[in-house]
Parts: sequence; structure tokens; C-alpha cells
Amino acid sequence: MQHVAVLGGSIAGLAAVRALRSFGVRVTLVEPDDLGGGQGDGRKGVPQSGQLHALLDMGRTQAERWFPGLTDELVGHGAVLGSGSEIQLFAGGTRKVAVPGNELIGTTRRLLEQRVRRRTLADEHVTVVRARACGLRFEGGRVTGVLHQGADGGPESCLPVDAVVDAMGRSSRLTSWLRDGGWPEPPVDRMRIDLGYATGLFRRGPELPGVRVAHQLPVAVGTLDRQPDTGAMAAVEGDRWMVVIAAYADRRLTRDRDAFLRRMCEMEAEPFGVVARRCELLGEVETYTMAHSMRRNWSRTERLPGGLFVVGDAVASFNPVYGQGMTSAFLHASCLAAYLRKGSDLTAPAVGYFEHVRVVVDAAWKVSTLADLAQPHVTGPYPPGYRISKALSDRMGEASVTDAWVNERFLDVVNMRRHPAALETPHFWWRVGKALLARRTPGTYGAARARRAGPGGRCLRAPRRPEI
Ligand SMILES: Cc1cc2nc3c(=O)[nH]c(=O)nc-3n(C[C@H](O)[C@H](O)[C@H](O)COP(=O)(O)OP(=O)(O)OC[C@H]3O[C@@H](n4cnc5c(N)ncnc54)[C@H](O)[C@@H]3O)c2cc1C
Repeated sequence: MQHVAVLGGSIAGLAAVRALRSFGVRVTLVEPDDLGGGQGDGRKGVPQSGQLHALLDMGRTQAERWFPGLTDELVGHGAVLGSGSEIQLFAGGTRKVAVPGNELIGTTRRLLEQRVRRRTLADEHVTVVRARACGLRFEGGRVTGVLHQGADGGPESCLPVDAVVDAMGRSSRLTSWLRDGGWPEPPVDRMRIDLGYATGLFRRGPELPGVRVAHQLPVAVGTLDRQPDTGAMAAVEGDRWMVVIAAYADRRLTRDRDAFLRRMCEMEAEPFGVVARRCELLGEVETYTMAHSMRRNWSRTERLPGGLFVVGDAVASFNPVYGQGMTSAFLHASCLAAYLRKGSDLTAPAVGYFEHVRVVVDAAWKVSTLADLAQPHVTGPYPPGYRISKALSDRMGEASVTDAWVNERFLDVVNMRRHPAALETPHFWWRVGKALLARRTPGTYGAARARRAGPGGRCLRAPRRPEI
């Protein structure tokens, strides 16, 4: 049996362990946190775990591949599966047309990780070493060992391996270890986003019958007199609503409970105000700030040592508003499996693996950065053809508000079920044009919206709800 060390026991690491195990590889999971904790514990290595985490549809499909029956297991622990009209998407204050068959599971990140971890660690060929990885040993052009130190310090030791998987998240130090070993670093792309997340949990009662998920996307920039906020809420286990408000730059929220509730009431999408006014806010508001989205272009690295793989946020970590992180992590596990299925040598440079990963990363990066560049405080870098892409994306967003067919295709891409290139067909744009014409015909919804618009097409703000 070949032996692989997976560094980092969060979602990406656990999915990679599972993928490796399906090829009969013996795995050691190196993780400084105590993984024996139960549900509800926030652990140090995953400071974002108290924030709302949406698992996109493709993520759930991939998670089911590696952990069959996971959805049922989560629902058995109180998670809530929403579908069709129970999932309410808003463009500003306007509710978008529902897409039948669209599903989303409402679960806390902590419950999801706990269930995935339990399954992974139940395997007798998976050993956990509670330690912090602190370097790699390279010999003969490949990785042959992982240097690690006990979680509470202590002497350094070396774990001999045939290959290693970096799943240490966005602050992984792998690139400096490569530099120390005389290997080139991958080129890195960054986009400054200045994001602030604030999440609160509320007691859930009968206040929103027929609603399980609500998501307010920011309306197109240029129609609001301030930075648009994004909000999402989901019914989760323990009869609770989990609500996140994502705001940028100087609109970022603090842990102030009253300010959080006030901001919920200011959201144009009604469910947020209903929950703020009628439900009890449980515990503290948890916050998290993220300065930039980042991707490491491993497929463009000049030279790679043999036996080196990277998964999850250590490859790329995007603005979490688009919910792509865990889905990408599960997809990376599938890329690893696709690579190994070809009979690839684990100890060789994993060029083919990183090519698979590049396709996943590029698609997610395209979706998230195109949307982020529309924010007034985001200043680039702008990709070639940005203005055209932005104009088309605005038209598609507008058409998807009222046209179920367009919205379904749009959601396919948002949910990572399809590559963004799937929207680049003449038929798709013909349908977008048709939907826009219908919106602009007098007597339709589009005309009503135009009447509400002020000079220059600026939308008038919805009347402010009473402050609480
Ligand atoms: C605010 C916020 C909200 C998010 N919302 C969503 C969402 O809605 N949907 C979604 O899909 N994704 C979301 N994400 C992204 C999601 O959290 C990650 O994509 C997901 O956790 C997978 O990350 P990962 O496993 O690669 O790394 P992480 O989850 O960051 O875990 C890294 C692991 O590596 C361990 N580690 C660190 N250093 C070492 C070391 N030296 N040696 C060994 N182990 C080490 C850590 O202890 C930890 O267990 C969000 C992220 C943030 C920040």
C-alpha cells in the first residue's frame, strides 16, 4: 500500500482522504486541532466555521459521491432540504422566478463537517496525527517526507510518505516550503474585495411559511445610492435560521447585535426584516473579514516536485458570497480520483491533476470576479473584454428575474453544475433577448419596474421598514 499524508482535516482534506482511499492508498491525516470534538464546537483551524455556508447543488452531488447518503444523514440530524419555491432568490427587493427542482440543503457548516469527518475517520486505513505540518522533505525530485511538530509544540519529526496533499486552507505555507526546497512558486492572482461577513442564529418558528432559503443578491451597481449588501438565510438544524449579511469596505458590520438587526431590516428582501423583527437572536453575532480573493496557478508552475497535490482553499479561495469553496473542494477530490483512475503514478509530478483542477478553478474564478468587479470599491485587475462581459452579465441577470428558463441556466452556472461557457450559445442569448423584450412590453412586470425608476433609471429605494 502506498502512503499519502493529507495535511489539514477540514472539508477539502477529508474529501481528498476519501478519494485516495477509494484507490486503496493508506492515508495519514495531519491536523493540529482535536478532531474528536462534537457538533457545535468551533475549532481554531477553521475560524469561518460559524458563518453561514451554502453547499451548492454540484457540491452536494459531489459530496454524495464521496459520502453516499450524506443528505439524508444531515436531514436526520435536523438539517433542512429546501426545493423549488421554498428557495427564494431576490435581485434587490424583487423576488426572482422560482426554478422547480432546484434544491439547497440548510445546515450549519459545523454539522456538515462533523458528519463528513465521522465517516472519513471511521476507516481503519486512515490514521490521524495531531500535529502541525511545518515543512516537506524533498529527495530525488519528489516529496518523501512531512516535517511536523506536536500541536502544543515539542520536537519536530518526519513522517515518510510517497505523496502529500496540501489541504491547509488559504493560509497554507506550502509555497514557502517549496521555495526553501529550491522549487519555484506558482504564480498567484489576487483581487481585493474588502469583504465583511456577519452571521447570526435565530430561533425559527412559523413566521415564514413555505420559505427555507432566502438570498438577496446585490442589485446591479448604478441603481443604488450606496454599496449593495448581500444577504442569505437558511433554515438549519435545531429549528434555527442562520442569517448572514455580507457587506463591503466601510459598510462591514461588527459584532454589534443591534446594528446587525437594523441592517437586516434595511435589506430589500422581506424575509430578512421578518426574521429580525419576529425571531429571537441566539448568542453572539460572529464576524469574519476577507481582504482578497486569491488563486494559486499550479498548472502554470515552471517545475513541480513529484508526489505533490493541493486541494481546496489552498488552491483558490474566492469571495464566499458565491458559496463556491466547499463545492470546489469536493470537485478537487473528484479531480484527484480522475487523475488516479488513469493509472497515474502518485510519486510523479501531478501535471495532469493540476490541469483538471485548473478547469474547476477558472470557472469559479470567472463567476466570482466578474460579479466582484461590478462593486464600486473593487478596482481590478480587469480581464480582457470585461466591459462586454459585464454588459452581457447585467442583461442576463435582468432576464433571469422573470424568465424561469433563463434563471435555470443561470443557476446551473451559479451552482457549478455547468461551466460558464455553457451560457455562450446563440440560443441562450436569443432567450435572454426574448425575456427582456417581454419585461419591457407595457403592462408587464418590466414596465412596472421602469415606472418605479427615477431619472436615469435609478431605482427608488423601497420604503424603509420601522427601525427596531
Ligand atoms: C466567511 C466565509 C464564508 C464561507 N462561506 C462558504 C459557503 O457559503 N459555501 C462554501 O462552499 N464555502 C464557503 N466558504 C469557504 C469554505 O469555508 C472553504 O472552502 C472550505 O472550508 C474548504 O476549505 P479547506 O478545507 O480547503 O480549508 P479550511 O476549511 O480553511 O481548513 C484548513 C485546515 O487545515 C488545517 N491546518 C492549517 N495549518 C495546518 C498545518 N500547518 N498543518 C496541518 N493542518 C493545518 C486547519 O486546522 C484546518 O483544519 C466560506 C469561507 C469563509 C471564510
